Amino acid sequence: MAWQPLKELDAKRRRQRKAARAAGLKKAPGDLELVRAFVSTVARAKRVDELATPARLGRWLENRGLLDAGAALGEAEQRSALDLRRGLRNLILANSGVAADPAMLERIEASSTGGRFALRYEGGLPVGFGPASRRFDDALGALAAIVVTARSEGLWPRLKICSGSDCRRAFFDTSPNFTGRWCSPQCGDKHRAAGHRRRR
Ligand SMILES: [Zn+2]
Repeated sequence: MAWQPLKELDAKRRRQRKAARAAGLKKAPGDLELVRAFVSTVARAKRVDELATPARLGRWLENRGLLDAGAALGEAEQRSALDLRRGLRNLILANSGVAADPAMLERIEASSTGGRFALRYEGGLPVGFGPASRRFDDALGALAAIVVTARSEGLWPRLKICSGSDCRRAFFDTSPNFTGRWCSPQCGDKHRAAGHRRRR
């Protein structure tokens, strides 16, 4: 085996663990995947909050083409993003029958109301709306706008929060009767096995 510095081996193991956790994850179609991933940035399964600092938030948005490279974000921007995330998480929980908290839902409006939009065209035909720029306010507005589109397309009710107590990732429920509870078959197996052990 070729010699590898320890650091690289660690990184390799981390990547392997990450890939194993992500295997079978039920991602959402199209732009809705952005919202699913945004809400999942704080899932317990990740063990870290990907938006824990303004710099991390900036990187997350930049990596998804929503923010100009090197845009300097501060604590106010981070607070807005966390508010939007809490609000969206609450709205998604309502898809599983949990009563939405109106105060949480108001955070969606308060954090995304500054977003500006531009028409998107394909072959001269207007096909939808996108963020007017890669500025921060437009990025949060774009995330909220995806909810509007997903609701009108009937996709929104399928977005759920995983029932795994140590997971809580968002996932797209593809079950025929909207009864999915787990973000991946692996997560379901793990928690069903744990429940079985507890009962015995
Ligand atoms: Zn899960």
